[in-house]
Amino acid sequence: MTDTPTVKFADLGLAENILKALTEAGYDIPTPIQAEAIPHIAMGGDVTGIAQTGTGKTAAFVLPMIQRLSTGRARARMPRCLILCPTRELAAQVAENFEKYGKYLKLTMALLIGGVSFKDQETLLQRGVDVLIATPGRLMDQFDRGKLLLMGVETLIIDEADRMLDMGFIPDIEKICTKLPANRQTLLFSATFPADIQRLAKNFQRDPKKIEVARPAQTAETITQHVVKLPGNDAKARRTALRRVIEACGEVKNGIVFCNRKVEVDIVAASLTKHGHDAAPIHGDLPQNVRMETLQRFRDGHLKLLVASDVAARGLDIPDVGHVFNFAPPPKDEDYVHRIGRTGRAGRKGESYTLVSPDDEKSWGFVLKMIKKDVPEFMPEGLLDELAALPPEEKRSRGRGDRERGRGGRGERDRDRGRSRGRREREEATAEIDAPETETVAVAAVAEPVEAVAVAVLEDRPKRERPARSERNEKRRERNDDQPRAERGDRSERSEKRERPQRDYKRKDDDLILEPAPDRVIGFGKDIPAFLKR
Ligand code: AMP
Repeated sequence: MTDTPTVKFADLGLAENILKALTEAGYDIPTPIQAEAIPHIAMGGDVTGIAQTGTGKTAAFVLPMIQRLSTGRARARMPRCLILCPTRELAAQVAENFEKYGKYLKLTMALLIGGVSFKDQETLLQRGVDVLIATPGRLMDQFDRGKLLLMGVETLIIDEADRMLDMGFIPDIEKICTKLPANRQTLLFSATFPADIQRLAKNFQRDPKKIEVARPAQTAETITQHVVKLPGNDAKARRTALRRVIEACGEVKNGIVFCNRKVEVDIVAASLTKHGHDAAPIHGDLPQNVRMETLQRFRDGHLKLLVASDVAARGLDIPDVGHVFNFAPPPKDEDYVHRIGRTGRAGRKGESYTLVSPDDEKSWGFVLKMIKKDVPEFMPEGLLDELAALPPEEKRSRGRGDRERGRGGRGERDRDRGRSRGRREREEATAEIDAPETETVAVAAVAEPVEAVAVAVLEDRPKRERPARSERNEKRRERNDDQPRAERGDRSERSEKRERPQRDYKRKDDDLILEPAPDRVIGFGKDIPAFLKR
């Protein structure tokens, strides 16, 4: 019997100066998607790649793309290749790949993402770039400002298309496609292939080669999965359980804690930090430089626990994560595979733990059905007793309700109307303004306003000085451009922001209780009139 000869990068028809960069990067053997996609893309064909992060998909499109671009020159304001990514981090990651593989080619690149000044980007565009890597929102902004001409685009690459769909970017992408020359190459990469993405492929690709490398329902054998069955649905009990599970794991080199909502990401990160864990949040509402810095610290091994939302973490190349903790099962069962796929990569061993409360049983059932595997139960010693000893949630909320009534009776009405879980949790986190004095803990991610952080970072001036209107507008755009344009300024988003915890509160207490900053008077402050106390 003869073995199939191993394909090498040198067999794929790549130019010498690209092979040299690959050797320096330590890559010799192409991954399956690279072996299949590179020759086809290098010939100018369209490709639909169904592949997750970790399969080497970025190099699968970057390598043949730079090979094709190496003949030809950039023209002012007319990029020759456009790469669309759903998030700034993913765009930055693709840019890193471009720099790594293209180091011996004279190609230029611009990154068009939020958090980077419009002016710097304009200067680059004006000079002319070969490759433009962008999030759809910022791209359309620059296009509308007339700083960009798209009729020179020879290759369009849509990365993480299903994530774009989740984020509501598909209308933006369709609009962008109409501005590009019809006679172009289109490459589309997606971890899953739902109907909307199939439609996108059908409408905007020409006879694409479909390459599928790993079905989303597969979980790697190198990952040991566990489920932690919680006796109740209390959020505070869940946070306690998370800590005990992390502690029961012994030596956790690094890990990602996945949460289903942004507000949960903040609360969980703050709670972990409060209890002495080295944790930081990452989600789309945080300013770009904070997100990048957190990610870098995590990659460099200076941060142990990254608390993330699916959107923020999807597509991020974070090699060698030891543990994945699901604060709850994901609402979309296929995200479970993406989440735990952060560990157990490249043959390394990894562990995953998923907290499942009675309310989560249904979504956990869907996950089990999809992965077709039994996941053993895990329970840290003494956790059940500890959870049983926690004061019940109603008791904590009753105290809060009384205070809210004292401030005008809204709490009671809200409860009657059945407040949303997120709202209830936020309220729990902002409650207890008259709690007894104990040590105060700085929990920047929650206690500080997201918008206020963004402005503080973006502005290099004393707080009171107001920037000129044009500058203010620019900053507003910079903060918004990761959102689909149709949704910017969306009322529900805005009202969610309004509901965030009061900004001038600091947190204290066993978990997350806030107290007013010293120079603020909230409602009646500490001087509650006697008639109200009665
Ligand atoms: P991606 O799926 O593009 O996010 O890539 C995942 C990781 O695999 C990145 O860290 C790449 O640098 C790495 N990688 C890509 N291609 C190869 C290869 N042929 N051999 C080894 N590692 C690779």
